[in-house]
Amino acid sequence: AKRDPGTSYRFYDRQLHISAGYQLRLEADLRNALRGNELELYYQPRIDLASNDVRGVECLLRWNHPERGLVGPDEFIPVAERSGLIVPIGYWVIEQACKRLQESAELGFPGLVFAVNLSFRQFHDRKMTETIFRIIFNANVDTSLLELELTESAMMHDPEYAQRCLRELNQLGISFALDDFGTGFSSLSNLQHLPISLVKIDKSFVQALGESADAEHIIRAIISLAHSLQISVVAEGVETESQLEFLRQQHCDEIQGYFYARPMPWADLVQFLNKRGES
Ligand code: C2E
Ligand code: CA
Ligand code: CA
Ligand code: CA
Repeated sequence: AKRDPGTSYRFYDRQLHISAGYQLRLEADLRNALRGNELELYYQPRIDLASNDVRGVECLLRWNHPERGLVGPDEFIPVAERSGLIVPIGYWVIEQACKRLQESAELGFPGLVFAVNLSFRQFHDRKMTETIFRIIFNANVDTSLLELELTESAMMHDPEYAQRCLRELNQLGISFALDDFGTGFSSLSNLQHLPISLVKIDKSFVQALGESADAEHIIRAIISLAHSLQISVVAEGVETESQLEFLRQQHCDEIQGYFYARPMPWADLVQFLNKRGES
């Protein structure tokens, strides 16, 4: 770019410009989305391999954009993180999950675990535990049914503060899962020192099964390591019977993936649970 400023630099600059404008627009839209009830949670079931029961659901954000339709989190979470909007959005997600948790018991599905994703950016909020405490207190839910998913890198900014948050929330009964496990900077000491009760094997490993022997070895190693520390394992991104069979043979505890169910709106989840209850 330096040698040819006449072409490539200007091109780069224009790209940057467009993307900055686009970002700002998206950010403004997102601010309205939170106020205007455009955000919605979808729920993806997690199935226990031994009992075939639905153990819980992962709550996944969707944005019903007035012009663009349903927008997935990969498109707007990075913007929400950069702008800090993920903090209020994250609290909204927990609030909503608690409401549904309460509702699920009333509908006859007690014991269903609700898992919510936490962004690294939420650990920049100095009032994190306090705010989460207030939300669960007001919702009056059984905290042992609330699970928070985080990646290991989420704690890197201020590990001491993050660890304190985890411990305090854990004392309230909330449990934690390490998300996307095996990617990024996995540190075995995290498993030992943090109140983690579950690891989620990243879908990239599951989807490489059958194509790469490494994926098999990595999955085997994660499961055996986790189990030796009394930590349960969920495999995500399970799409085929053969992936499922491999995971079953390895004594993976739970699976989540399109093979069983896609993320779905609340009303569809209730129907899904009712159908399974009948059979
Ligand atoms: P994640 O936490 O790793 O969530 C799992 C993603 O895998 C979800 O994508 C889910 O729809 C997708 N998935 C599940 N089963 C399958 C499968 O069998 N095949 C394939 N190809 N994909 C499958 P989704 O809903 O698009 O979410 C993407 C990411 O956005 C999440 O990844 C999570 O990091 C983030 N996210 C979603 N909701 C929230 C939220 O409320 N807060 C925060 N901070 N992040 C969120
Ligand atoms: Ca997750
Ligand atoms: Ca993942
Ligand atoms: Ca992820």
